Amino acid sequence: MAKVHLARGSGKDSISALLEPYLKGAALKATDLVAVKIHAGEQGNTRFVGPGRVAAVVEALRLTPGRVFLTDTTVLYRGRRLCAPDYLLLSSEHGFGPPVTPPFIVADGLRGTDDVEIPLPGNSDPHPARIARVIAESDAMVVISHFKGHLLTGFGGAVKNLGMGCASRAGKLFMHSGIRPVTKASKCTGCGNCAEHCPSGAIALTPLASIDPDACVGCGECIQRCPAGAIGTDWGQEKGEFARRLALYAMAAFSSTRVLVCVNFVTDVAPDCDCLGDTGPEVVEDIGVLASTDPVALDQACLDLVTAADGASGTFSGTGRGVEKFGLLHPGTDPEAQLSEAEAVGLGSRSFDLVELGT
Ligand code: SF4
Ligand code: SF4
Repeated sequence: MAKVHLARGSGKDSISALLEPYLKGAALKATDLVAVKIHAGEQGNTRFVGPGRVAAVVEALRLTPGRVFLTDTTVLYRGRRLCAPDYLLLSSEHGFGPPVTPPFIVADGLRGTDDVEIPLPGNSDPHPARIARVIAESDAMVVISHFKGHLLTGFGGAVKNLGMGCASRAGKLFMHSGIRPVTKASKCTGCGNCAEHCPSGAIALTPLASIDPDACVGCGECIQRCPAGAIGTDWGQEKGEFARRLALYAMAAFSSTRVLVCVNFVTDVAPDCDCLGDTGPEVVEDIGVLASTDPVALDQACLDLVTAADGASGTFSGTGRGVEKFGLLHPGTDPEAQLSEAEAVGLGSRSFDLVELGT
């Protein structure tokens, strides 16, 4: 049964005590490149795991040799994380980088296309996973996740951070359905930039842009190239399939490098993910920081703790199951689907032994 450790505090000493058992025997070499996977927060977001807490995790990593850097991937939607230069500036504005933390490197290149193909585990789909090159080529990784709600999966934690957070833009598009980009006629100016860069000739200008879904290969280039924000993704897909693909990608990312430990901060637990600016009132009071080598057991433990906690800020009346809490926030989601799918593909176990530090 997987062990999950819990520190009730989220200060430097708590984090150090929590991570020491995982890191001091890690047997890294001084030349190893160690990725610390973070989410540096979208502009306006204040709930992401901040540079002080990330620095505390990095401090614990000094128990072992290796060259440490922070990393994350670009995203599909418009914002300050759409391409590497914007994300580098935003991460710096959010306090990441020297002298507070090691340098921040965008994992999937200038435009989100730099990836490595990793076979999807036990999947009949002929498409391999597209994992960001920096992550796949790292020698080891520590996965830092903020546990909070999510509009497609109910909640987001380590499995979500591995699956979606380590994929390049093409991988993200694969997970987001049979998803293909869709154009918004009200915003399109007919400039043709998307069609010019589409690698499969799937975009016609008549005179506004329209996308042929049969010709589109889901590369996401048009989203990145459109200056008007007129191309988005169809978020209305069947969420069960999304959970299955997310689990497959999490397994691919996990197997692409050596994951030393996954760390979940169950702090500032907001209804929505760190990709949004305003994420609403907290769902529960802060619970603490949890760690495990098993991302499925880790997320399950966090979900169970949220289940047992009282609602905060009047968000919920009385107590309710964590599943129901997140399900209430995001109707139509099944917060447990990603965990059952992840267990099914062999990423980990939903059974765990919770060990609380100092007890
Ligand atoms: S996602 Fe790629 S292939 Fe599809 S329309 Fe956009 S640029 Fe073309
Ligand atoms: S790049 Fe954007 S604005 Fe220009 S034609 Fe394509 S969808 Fe329209």
